[in-house]
Amino acid sequence: MKITVTQKAVKKIKKDYPLIQSEDLVRPVETNEWVTFTDTQGNLVAKGYLGKQNKGIGWILTRENRELDVSFFAERFAAAKNRRNHYYRNEQTTAFRLVNGEGDGLGGLIVDLYEDFAVFSWYNETLYFNRKTIVTAFKKIFPEIKGAYEKIRFESSLPESKQMYGKEAPEPLLIKENGIVYATYLNEGLMTGIFLDQHEVRGRLSDGLASGKTVLNMFSYTGAFSVAAAMGGAVQTTSVDLAKRSLPKTKEQFTVNGLDLEQQKIHVMDTFEYFKYAKKKELLFDLIVLDPPSFARNKKKVFSVAKNYGDLIEDSVDILHPQGTIIASTNAANLSPEKFQQLIEDALDKKGVSYEQTAAYRLPDDFTVYAGFPEGNYLKVYVYQLKQ
Ligand code: SAH
Repeated sequence: MKITVTQKAVKKIKKDYPLIQSEDLVRPVETNEWVTFTDTQGNLVAKGYLGKQNKGIGWILTRENRELDVSFFAERFAAAKNRRNHYYRNEQTTAFRLVNGEGDGLGGLIVDLYEDFAVFSWYNETLYFNRKTIVTAFKKIFPEIKGAYEKIRFESSLPESKQMYGKEAPEPLLIKENGIVYATYLNEGLMTGIFLDQHEVRGRLSDGLASGKTVLNMFSYTGAFSVAAAMGGAVQTTSVDLAKRSLPKTKEQFTVNGLDLEQQKIHVMDTFEYFKYAKKKELLFDLIVLDPPSFARNKKKVFSVAKNYGDLIEDSVDILHPQGTIIASTNAANLSPEKFQQLIEDALDKKGVSYEQTAAYRLPDDFTVYAGFPEGNYLKVYVYQLKQ
């Protein structure tokens, strides 16, 4: 199907922007087929598809005049696999991202590797509709994968998670990252038990940053940062998360690494309630990890990074050792790295402490970022060291 785009959109596409937005189309159209985008004279501009998702209404897949068939997708998968050679060679890490959407020339599709299994995330209905072509190509390039699961990340009545092909993964499926074991569940809703994009930060915690320290992990989910810290020699970890499931899940992560639960505290609690409790008890930590969701609704209040991150920093300073460390992280795509940094530093200034930024992380390289789409690099992590 041919679809005409505006002159403005032609320019944008030629500048390498891969996302189609509704204002780019001369006439509104919806289709599940692959699409040839043309200028108003009918000349080919790019090939791709339309499909509504949380951002945009479609993706450019190629600027060449070629079929979007099994061999096209196989080429993209082969390139993605090749790019991750250094992950394949590292036996200490058996879970990482295989295909990162537009970063690997496949906007709308994400595939993660968990040991011998793959987890597909479909971000729009059109790719899902064309999944036969895509999965056939995937199997050609990744024949060693024993089984695959899929997550539906667009509005639909389909189950959000199900097995897609091959063998079923054990539950839990034990994966390794930097030599540390994590228990994952490939078929429990959209989340698996670990956020793979934080592997460099976990790596830093396990290879020295947490050594000899007391660590507080806020918004801890399954406690992955706590486990990395404990494996890296933290003398005690405290994990705080509102969700009831976080208690058994966090215990399990420690247990699969043979760690003693005695030195690990786990609280099912609201973060701000925990800050109050810790201040009352005059607790003091050497290192605090802050990694909230970009948006969360609790019974009492709504948390948004832009509005509330400063409060998290201020509360943290109150229970942080005078030479303590804060790891401030956010995955909020709508907040620029500069703004996030400013937010943190404004809060630190307000508390009147001296500090130094000692490290900064963006997405690791298995989460490939497309040069024409820098906003795809949503992760921002800053390490601050307080000084006296
Ligand atoms: N830092 C985690 C991922 C955090 S996901 C990791 O690296 O694995 C966000 C978590 O925040 C969820 O587990 C959710 O239950 C929790 N959460 C949301 N609002 C919260 C609140 N007000 N207090 C404590 N935890 C909260």
